[in-house]
Amino acid sequence: MRILTVVGNRPQFVKAAAVSRLLREHHEEILVHTGQHYDDELSRVFFEELDVPAPDLRLGAGGGSNTEQTARILGLLEGVLSDAAPDFVLVYGDTNSTLAGALAAAQAGVPVGHVEAGMRSFDRTMPEELNRVLTDHASDLLLCSTETAVSNLRREAAAGEPHLVGDVMADVSLAFRPIAEGRSTALVDYGLEEGGYLLATAHRPGNVDDPERLERLVELLEALPLPTLVPLHPRTAASLEKAALRGRLERAPLLRLAPPLGYLDFMKVAMHARAILTDSGGVQKEAYLLGIPCVTLRDNTEWVETVESGWNSLVGLDREAALEAVARPAPDLARSELYGGGHAGERIREVLGAYTARR
Ligand code: UDP
Repeated sequence: MRILTVVGNRPQFVKAAAVSRLLREHHEEILVHTGQHYDDELSRVFFEELDVPAPDLRLGAGGGSNTEQTARILGLLEGVLSDAAPDFVLVYGDTNSTLAGALAAAQAGVPVGHVEAGMRSFDRTMPEELNRVLTDHASDLLLCSTETAVSNLRREAAAGEPHLVGDVMADVSLAFRPIAEGRSTALVDYGLEEGGYLLATAHRPGNVDDPERLERLVELLEALPLPTLVPLHPRTAASLEKAALRGRLERAPLLRLAPPLGYLDFMKVAMHARAILTDSGGVQKEAYLLGIPCVTLRDNTEWVETVESGWNSLVGLDREAALEAVARPAPDLARSELYGGGHAGERIREVLGAYTARR
């Protein structure tokens, strides 16, 4: 079978690392990089470190508004699908590349599988939420990370088949943890002591695009009580420059700004942090898997199990709530296996094989 996989941004490269090599054992895969993230820090390093096969096609469709970007990718994929004539299209997560990939395939009459289907924040102001819902309703195979995702899709009466396969990011996190531990020198590089620092990331449009919200984020970071490593996403770096707020972060005595880290360095600093503050979906999951308390800089999350288990607190941009959450000791609670134990990639391969054999 010929599978065309569409990826475009950092978390999708991580997700493809759990699936592409496995698919290629039995199938032909054409990996299309839309170019949503194209710089080395957010793209190349992930292909290299995680051994993701090099893209077969690059669309170079980065930049522009969500609407422009989605439309551009959609238009380009029409030609790609017609030339490549795949039997199946695979998309990941909740970006413009995800939606454009699913829609282009559905319109071309090619079955689509959505990895990480059924995740919901129930916040339609998030561009990601719109992408998730629309992608799910255009997809034939709904490959879910959690039971909650399966129930969300059943409640919405999505037409595709839901399958609980586990979470592909968990596969990668579990597989690369010992490699990161052995190989990364990030603790020494950034002068961090095991268990004596915080890690903070933020890049959701809702937190960084509006200068007032961005200033609240800056105030929250300035108030943190421990040395804090802040790898800056390019979107956040650009917003800080524009709002003339970067200098404040640079001057804050406990904050250490860094460029976006490669996967192994990020994992190393995540696994030895006292706590992680983030608005990233993937990082909330990774914190749970690593047993590091997470403080989520959002009012809602798709990864509700991490909150229900006591390992994740939702604080939005409320500084006092964040400080309280950071001061709390790690929960004295066992972590149950929420995300499939590192076998999601294998299950996806099985489900895909069974689906295409039936057709
Ligand atoms: N990540 C990374 N370096 C960083 C920040 C994040 O390698 O400086 C990884 C992180 O480990 C996770 C993924 O990027 O696997 C999450 O991506 P992001 O936060 O951009 O996306 P989201 O999960 O919010 O969609």
